[in-house]
Amino acid sequence: MLVYLNGQYVDHSEARVAVDDRGFVFADGIYEVIRIYDGRLFLAEPHYARLRQGLSSIRIESGAPEALPVIANRLIAENGLQDDDAILYIQITRGAAPRKHAFPPPGTAPTVFVSVKPFPRFSEETYESGQAAVTTPDTRWARCDIKSIALLPNVLANQTAREAGAFEAIFVRDGVLIEGSHSNLLGVIGGEVVTYPECNYILGGITRRFVLDLARGLGIPVREGPIFVDRLDEVEELFLCGTTTEVMPITRLDGRPISDGRAGPITRRLGKSYREATLSASPASV
Ligand code: PMP
Repeated sequence: MLVYLNGQYVDHSEARVAVDDRGFVFADGIYEVIRIYDGRLFLAEPHYARLRQGLSSIRIESGAPEALPVIANRLIAENGLQDDDAILYIQITRGAAPRKHAFPPPGTAPTVFVSVKPFPRFSEETYESGQAAVTTPDTRWARCDIKSIALLPNVLANQTAREAGAFEAIFVRDGVLIEGSHSNLLGVIGGEVVTYPECNYILGGITRRFVLDLARGLGIPVREGPIFVDRLDEVEELFLCGTTTEVMPITRLDGRPISDGRAGPITRRLGKSYREATLSASPASV
């Protein structure tokens, strides 16, 4: 596959980053993942906006976000993905410099890496049957709103899920289900879609916002608030959403069924609307 690295288009096997890159040494960088459906970027603009916001939060100055539409289209075309489902991965670090915690000298160029890879949709069966999740303590920092490449707690949480045969690990903070290791969590309580409010303890998911808008459009009430671990008996439905996760019913949590253990009606409605929206993904803007 052809990738983009610091202004060049090179084969993946030829792409090289310095060992003193601050991404490698300090996880000092920001990333973004955008879904491609049938060769077209889905919700690209809000992803670019979040990337710009993240870079500004950690004070990396890079003009790369402005070039992304062109880079993305070229990677899709040259890798022959014009009709395929795929993901675009973007990573920008503070660049390569001798290891010192404080920022490198002014003029140090950020490292910009962009790649694409095929990423098929989940099967209807996967959505229909729902997935299992496990809970795990939220040991992350207090700026989870920044899409930092420092993902060790997320890696460990996700591995816990995998070892338990589950699809996702849900972080719990102060008795509240916060979000997944790489997805946001939503529930249905008393007919309302409930999800943790956008703040420093979660990533403001692009899919989360889109799904909440879908819900409002369908006349389903939405409330941003807590889902308590010790009040799961009140939870009628539980589901995840995210760029790679889409809308995924969670039917078992820590081995116990949610409600009757089947994907619930509101989750299914939102999942269907979401999948319909992905079929009309807007063409990548140049
Ligand atoms: N929370 C976390 C921790 C994530 O890593 C992700 C995936 N990027 C999400 C939520 C979902 O965000 P999005 O819908 O923008 O992919």
